[in-house]
Formats: sequence, C-alpha cells, structure tokens
Amino acid sequence: MPTVTNPLDAPLAPRAYRGPIMHSLSAEELRFLPNGGLLVNADGRVEACENWSTLQATGRLEGVEVLSLPPDALLVPGFVDMHVHLPQMEVAGCQEKNLLSWLEQHIFAAEARFTDANHAQNVSQWFFEELLRNGTTTAAVFLTSHDEATRIAFETAERLGNRVIMGQNLMDANAPAALVKPAEQLLQETEAQCRQWHGRDQGRLQYAWIPRFAITSTEELLAGIGELRRRYPDVYLHTHLSEQIPEIEAVKNLFPWAKDYTDVYEKFGLLGPRTILAHGIHLSDDELDRIQAAESSLAHCPSSNFFLKSGRFRLFEILRRKMRFGLGSDVGAGPELSMFKVMKDGQFMQTEALAPLNALFYAATLGGAKALFQDDRIGNFEPGKEADFLILDLRGKTCMALPNASQQDTVSALTVEGGSHALLSKLIYLGDERLVQSGFIRGRRVYQAGLIP
Ligand SMILES: [Zn+2]
Repeated sequence: MPTVTNPLDAPLAPRAYRGPIMHSLSAEELRFLPNGGLLVNADGRVEACENWSTLQATGRLEGVEVLSLPPDALLVPGFVDMHVHLPQMEVAGCQEKNLLSWLEQHIFAAEARFTDANHAQNVSQWFFEELLRNGTTTAAVFLTSHDEATRIAFETAERLGNRVIMGQNLMDANAPAALVKPAEQLLQETEAQCRQWHGRDQGRLQYAWIPRFAITSTEELLAGIGELRRRYPDVYLHTHLSEQIPEIEAVKNLFPWAKDYTDVYEKFGLLGPRTILAHGIHLSDDELDRIQAAESSLAHCPSSNFFLKSGRFRLFEILRRKMRFGLGSDVGAGPELSMFKVMKDGQFMQTEALAPLNALFYAATLGGAKALFQDDRIGNFEPGKEADFLILDLRGKTCMALPNASQQDTVSALTVEGGSHALLSKLIYLGDERLVQSGFIRGRRVYQAGLIP
C-alpha cells in the first residue's frame, strides 16, 4: 500500500493574499473588498480578512509574506457540494429513454463495477482530483455498497486533501443483486468504517450513514441505522427524499403506515441535525415544518432536476423560512461537478422570478457549510475559520474578462464604485472550472492550474 502523504500536514508560514475578495456574510449580505487582504496564519486559519489598508494599519503584516494577486484575479471561498455520487462520474451526461433504463444501463451498472478494487481506485483518484479542479473543497459524497471501495475512497480523499462527508451506500432491497447486502452485514460494515474514518485529520474526513433512499431499504435496515444514529450522534445521515412523483407513490406502497415520505425517515429516528436530504422537491408545508424543526438540511440539485425532469425546488419558500440548505451537483444525474454551473441552473430552474444572486452564491459556500453544520470552520473568511479558498482568474472564460486592449482590470470595471452585483452576476452566468487557478484547504494549496504560486 502506498504511504499516505497528507498535503495538509505540510508546514505553513503565515501569508497574506492581497487583491479583490468576495465572500458571503449571510444569504442576503455579500462582502466585496476591491483591495482586500486575507491573512492566513501558520495553523491554516483565517487571521483576518479586511481592506488592505485596514489590515496594514493593524501592524499584523509585519514579517508576513505577501502574495499580490495579478490583474483579473479574484479570491473566493472554496465551494461546498452537498450531494454528489462518486461512482457515477463515468456515466455523467448519458441520457436514456426513461428513468428506469437510465438507472439500469448506466447508474446501477457503474456502481456494480466497484467490486473491482482497481476500478474503485482509478475512479476515486479521478473524482477527488476533479472536485479540486472545479473549486469544490468540501463535498458530501455517495459511494457504493462495497466495503473495500469505501475504504479506497476515504484513503484517496485523505491523501489528496479534500474535505469530505461520505460513507458506504446501504441498500438491502429493490436494487440489483450485485448492489444489495443483508441489513445485518451492512450495519456491521458501515459501523466499522465509521469508527475508522469519522473525524480523521482534525475533522476533515467525516462519516455519514447513507441509506440510498426509502425504496431500497427494509424496515430492519432503517431501524438499524436509527440505532447507529442514537449511538453516534455527531455522525451524518445522507439520503434522498421526495425527488419524483412515481418515487413518492412507491414509498406510499412500501410503507403504507407512513403519513408521508418524510414520516418514513422520521419514524426510524433518521431526522435531526446533520441529516442531509437530497432534492426535497415535492414536500408539503407540513413536511418542511418538520424537517426545519428537526434542523435537518436540504441539498438542492437543480442540474439533476433538469436532467431527470424531477420538478421544481421551492427555493423562495426555503429562503423565506431560512431553512438549512445548500447546492449539490448530483453527478451523474447532474452532468457536471462545477458549482458555477449548479448556481446558474439554480437560477434557470426558477421560472417565475429571478432568484437573488447573493442567495445562490451563499448556497454554494456559507449556506452549504451551515447546512453541513460546518459553518464554524468553513464557508467564508471570518477570523478563526479554516482557510479554504480559491484564486479565480477571470481571463479563463470568454465574455468574462475585458480584452487586453482595454487596459482596464476586469474586476475594477465590473465593480465600479465598489458594487459587486455585475461581478457576481458574471460569475454565476458565465463561470466554470476554467476560472479556478488554485485551490487551498486549511491554507495549503491542494490544486494548481497555472501561474499563481
Ligand atoms: Zn443523488
């Protein structure tokens, strides 16, 4: 087995990054510093994030290495992807005639290939590198039901530096034989994985119990997961909820005693803080009330909802309620890992009114962190948080940066009088992974595309 070298173990000298900085303070409030400074200390934490002149006046920059960003660069928090399937990377963007044939020919087939450890290794490496290339520094990830492939995924994330919440897929019914196991075996395997990985590297790797959804779970499995949840209250639970109407009908038939879909999870003690519910499209007001009261979180996956024609997430209602929610790429039903694309689809998915740009950027950063109960450590540049950030180069994308001949820095041109609306709008409508120049987790560089050291 290769020796694990953790990039986040590297020693770090305090460093100040000088240039335009943008981050969310809340769903409504965006902070833009045209000439800002992000001071990262030797622990990889944010020491300060201020206007450069303010930071200079404090005297804290003395003896600190300064890195000035080049023209057309912008510093933002690393993105949070709240819902993505590692084993589905290779079948992203494969359309079929209907949902069932898509599942059989692509999704289940792709997941079954993870019995092969070599395959699991190759796809894990590819997946975690691609997340970083896309600027996603934190991801809540579905794996497969294979014990060994789960271990390989954790080892790979540990080695590459990604911040993750993930776990073995738990399915004991209504799925191909290659992917189901008896409940008892799954419960034993997932608990052992949890004990090995949960909280590793100062909490960078976190474990989640992952019943795929109600349909692929027996009551025995759900009860067993409820019991694990009681015994390990700080471990996550990640599942799908209320994505499509036929799915809701199937849940009704399988669990006739339940008053609605949410009730199935509720009865087995699966709702609560640190429960991530992917999709949540067709939820009643009563279900939203209960999910909110339980402090559970919704992962909105607009690109996937478009692809599978699942329906429209109640974004404005969720924002009005101030529920915990963020965005998910849901690769492979969502075709791309880029959270820029997911933000844009989040906008396009709303057909009756324009979604506020600040809310979309928030959902992809601080909102996602809050929904994952990690806003005390990531999501924006409040002092004391771990420094997860990206350096973007606006020249990476057509229509974004001004032509060189204009001799004007694009960020300045788009933020006349300090207003950041046009800049944020361009990022959301035009952004993609080509903008991401470097990615940092806990102050250490985990990805570098180009020239900025
Ligand atoms: Zn999913």
